[in-house]
Amino acid sequence: MNGFRAFHPDLIVEVTGICDRACAGCYAPNLISKYSPEELFREKPEMFLTAEQLNGSLIEVKANVDSIALRGGEPSRHPYLSNLLRVAHKHSRNVYVETHGRWVLNDGASELLQICAELGTVVKISFDRMHGLSPDELKGIVNRISKEQVAFLIAITEATDEDFLKTRALCDWVPDENIIHQKKAKALHELIEPRIGVVKLNGKLARTLTTKRDFVLKPIFAGLTT
Ligand code: SF4
Repeated sequence: MNGFRAFHPDLIVEVTGICDRACAGCYAPNLISKYSPEELFREKPEMFLTAEQLNGSLIEVKANVDSIALRGGEPSRHPYLSNLLRVAHKHSRNVYVETHGRWVLNDGASELLQICAELGTVVKISFDRMHGLSPDELKGIVNRISKEQVAFLIAITEATDEDFLKTRALCDWVPDENIIHQKKAKALHELIEPRIGVVKLNGKLARTLTTKRDFVLKPIFAGLTT
């Protein structure tokens, strides 16, 4: 759709396989948990990418990485996200954190927001039917982020242009230049494939995102019945 920006990072980094939400339609095979990030890191270290692993894989890439997007799971569930951000900024001019954004409203958000402000990280917040954030919650998040002088983008991911425009109308106070228009993927081949690839939880570089098995199967069965 004309007039709105797209989002095509060179590299996606899966920083954790943990999320504190369970959105219907999520492609990622997350472990859903509301335990504290520190506790989960102690109990399940394999669910988290370390700063050392990220640094190693970015050295291995040996290509110019113009933009890196850190996502999960939910990246704010990584207790050492700030260390990963520092590493990502060493290797790329443009670093994004893709998030549902709810953590921004918590008392403890200041430290991470201040690091984002210091480094110039852009916080990319998902606002669409799947993530279920209310317009008032989004307003609170954007106010807090702006107060901390952190750059932000709002990603609206809907299945149709009509649905995109409906969701856009719910946040019409956000300038167009802060809006990203994304088409909701309904099948594996519709998921984003970054130019350089995806850094997985173990620090290995791959072509595609980690997905749930049934996210792949559903569209195949749908195809067989038509
Ligand atoms: S917040 Fe994102 S990662 Fe977590 S369940 Fe929802 S879509 Fe998936």
